[in-house]
Amino acid sequence: MIAEPVIQQIHNLDIATVIGGYVALKHKGRYYECCCPFHNEKTPSFKVDSAKGKWYCYGSCQEGGDAIAFVMKCNNCSFYEAVKTIAQNHGITYEEIEQSSEDETKSRKREAMFSANALAQEFFVKSFNEANQEAKNAREYAYNRWNKSFVNETGIGFAPNSWNGLLNFAKSKGASLDVLEELSLIRKSEQKSYYDFFRARLTIPIRDRFNRVIGFAARDLTNAKDTPKYLNSAESPLFHKAESLFGIDTAIRQAR
Ligand code: ZN
Repeated sequence: MIAEPVIQQIHNLDIATVIGGYVALKHKGRYYECCCPFHNEKTPSFKVDSAKGKWYCYGSCQEGGDAIAFVMKCNNCSFYEAVKTIAQNHGITYEEIEQSSEDETKSRKREAMFSANALAQEFFVKSFNEANQEAKNAREYAYNRWNKSFVNETGIGFAPNSWNGLLNFAKSKGASLDVLEELSLIRKSEQKSYYDFFRARLTIPIRDRFNRVIGFAARDLTNAKDTPKYLNSAESPLFHKAESLFGIDTAIRQAR
């Protein structure tokens, strides 16, 4: 484990110098930009905002985050590995905090849960941007309430009206279904088969202060009488409703 002050020092770095170590950024107005390293394109839609410490791809990724999220995606590595890489490359000294094996099991579990939430977030955003009619309806609903850049930057997504959309996506990525079930992203039926928990809902990611997704608030789009308007992620080591209430509250308030 790495102490939190190291993470704060990383957030104090100019994000353009971190990302500039991976791609050739060009200064343009108040942003830096380049062709997105995560999808193929000829005109740059990848922007870096030094003032906010954020990057965003306005092209087909429709995804963004902080410097750590960039390195995680670039190197396909965990949060802690990305923190270590950035610290090493930018002369930030850190000490590994010794962990008992019990703590280590716990933090490995948390990492697996963050990965599962990130995977679900990827699926919801992908589904939100599909060309089909239900995705179109979801976008129309979202863009009626907020402006487009808010929707994209927040990472508002869509859980399609399907019993196995996320399930099949997770399987195709080789994700641990046990972890997804523990986060109640999928559930087990009485016949012991898995199904998607969020269906026909707009998904609003709830994040921690490092911008990692810890859970979701999901708004029903069917207006069916017997369905709760909002569903939240189940309690987990990442997500405690009582502590995360502010996040849920903000998410839902913005969702109105
Ligand atoms: Zn992209």
